[in-house]
Amino acid sequence: MLQTTTIIIGAGQAGLAMSRCLSELGVEHVVLERGKLAQRWRSHSWDSLRLLTPNWMTRLPGFQYDGHDRDGFMSVPELIAFFERYAVSSVAPVLTDTTVQSVERSGNGFRVVTNRGVWTASSVVVATGYCDLPAVPAASRGLAPSVRQIVPSDYRRPEQLPAGGVLVVGASSTGVQLADEIQRSGRQVTLAVGRHTRLPRSYRGRDILWWLDQLGVLGQGVDAVQNIERSRHQPSLQLVGRPDHSSLDLAVLHDRGVRLVGRVRDIDGRRVSLADDVVATTAAADFKMAEILMRIDQFIAATGAAAASPEPFNPTWPLAADTPDSLDLKDERINTVIWATGYRRAYPWLRLPVLTAHGEITHKGGITPEVGLYVLGLNFQRRRNSSFIDGVGHDAWVIAQEIEQSMARVRVA
Ligand SMILES: Cc1cc2nc3c(=O)[nH]c(=O)nc-3n(C[C@H](O)[C@H](O)[C@H](O)COP(=O)(O)OP(=O)(O)OC[C@H]3O[C@@H](n4cnc5c(N)ncnc54)[C@H](O)[C@@H]3O)c2cc1C
Repeated sequence: MLQTTTIIIGAGQAGLAMSRCLSELGVEHVVLERGKLAQRWRSHSWDSLRLLTPNWMTRLPGFQYDGHDRDGFMSVPELIAFFERYAVSSVAPVLTDTTVQSVERSGNGFRVVTNRGVWTASSVVVATGYCDLPAVPAASRGLAPSVRQIVPSDYRRPEQLPAGGVLVVGASSTGVQLADEIQRSGRQVTLAVGRHTRLPRSYRGRDILWWLDQLGVLGQGVDAVQNIERSRHQPSLQLVGRPDHSSLDLAVLHDRGVRLVGRVRDIDGRRVSLADDVVATTAAADFKMAEILMRIDQFIAATGAAAASPEPFNPTWPLAADTPDSLDLKDERINTVIWATGYRRAYPWLRLPVLTAHGEITHKGGITPEVGLYVLGLNFQRRRNSSFIDGVGHDAWVIAQEIEQSMARVRVA
């Protein structure tokens, strides 16, 4: 039986940040990773993917981007290399190719079974990722087998798709990027638009995330919002990180020839029924964006921050008028459906009574009701940016301190 104080499950940014913080506090630990370091980025990314957060936001405890292109956006190979350098600089004790198969209570601590041996530890940190599995609507089950359906983690490039048109479902960051790339490759793309958070890439001469960082929006804690569950389910930012810093929104896609339709309600074979909600959805996103830009204007006025004049932003909702209430995939020659409909999590190996009816881990700021069990990297876990590279470090510090203090309490008792 192998023994340590803390086991961290997963060697993505959350697991590595956690390891760094525990090392700084002198807490013995291991990081168990089923694949290679940063496996998610290695195996679940499309070829052209770049971070949507600028390089200066690639900051983790004790380590940050130090290249010459602070305002640029990292490609996936660059990001993996960054995480590899981080692990080396932290001397992170990562055991790769080690899959956690079960976690259960053993005395005051835990018994963790892996494909490469059994461990015991007094605490466990689950860092297996917020974007663990694709969340695909039940309607997908009605789709005719002759239509290929895939999820973004299996998409690499347009050439891998069967000939013909493509229906992309979901207009958040992933959906708009895939719709754009596939349309540019010469296919006809139809985009089923659901709830989304529209933002321009830059505003008044600065990257939009720079302004949100200045406003303190990204670092807002759970107490700053009225309904944390609603905030946790906000759609991701409709942003793309491109060398030319261009924006990608529904107007850009519409100009490129992408057809905008409403949310997918149901599918029967090749018949897709659509909600009559694009105008309402896009109007809500336009309104929300205008509100955020107004807050930036107020911030500039209050602080005298240097800024260019405001750019006009056109509403996108007029583009969505007259959308159909159904699509016949055969008539439209659509042979592929891509479900860019978000993510879910599953913890079949977690044999502890901490899961909600929806299979989520019950926690308060990452601390679960099972003494010694923690979770890290969830959306808006402690702060709005908890699942971002730039935000996970804050939460990792809090949990590392909690682990150290609980060890001190055990030593005193
Ligand atoms: C398409 C996309 C783009 C994104 N772009 C950005 C961005 O630009 N900027 C930003 O800040 N954030 C971005 N994010 C959000 C976030 O940074 C990523 O989701 C990131 O991968 C989260 O890191 P993590 O360490 O929490 O989880 P993950 O990277 O998912 O790491 C979890 C690790 O746990 C391992 N694991 C899982 N189960 C087990 C098991 N049973 N045993 C052992 N190991 C296990 C996995 O192999 C994986 O390596 C993006 C997310 C997606 C999906």
